[in-house]
Amino acid sequence: MPRPRCCRRVAGEPVCKFFKPAGVPASSLEEVVLSIDEFEAIRLADLEGLYHEQAAESMSVSRQTFGRIVEAARGKIARVLVEGLALRIEGGVIEMAEQRTFRCQQCQHTWSVPFGTGRPVGCPECKSKSIYRSEDERGTERTGQGCRRNLCRRPQ
Ligand SMILES: [Zn+2]
Repeated sequence: MPRPRCCRRVAGEPVCKFFKPAGVPASSLEEVVLSIDEFEAIRLADLEGLYHEQAAESMSVSRQTFGRIVEAARGKIARVLVEGLALRIEGGVIEMAEQRTFRCQQCQHTWSVPFGTGRPVGCPECKSKSIYRSEDERGTERTGQGCRRNLCRRPQ
């Protein structure tokens, strides 16, 4: 299934979707909305410290588009901090990166890796090579075809 070019790929949902200054009721605050692609741009550029080229590739957008997204995001966050506003993170034309979940047969450790990073060589906990693809992975509902295939392989 080809990825639609319009979608901006993001690694996941924000941990917290609403921020506000302490001691001020939300109802009396102006709210700034940061889209999830803008949030992802901040995460990649300012937290992970990626170059725009790498970050753009990660989000499946051009470097120019990434530059516009991250500038818009920084402008919004700066305004929230300076003017003491509330910040809500939601929306945007996005596609969640598929997560593949693996499980270790030795220690039962379960972990996820984003789509496109290759199959892990072994368990990150005990280094065992006896790992298998777990079926209860995040993101499968969003990729209908893959989901149905995985369900067919589910061991009973
Ligand atoms: Zn293990």
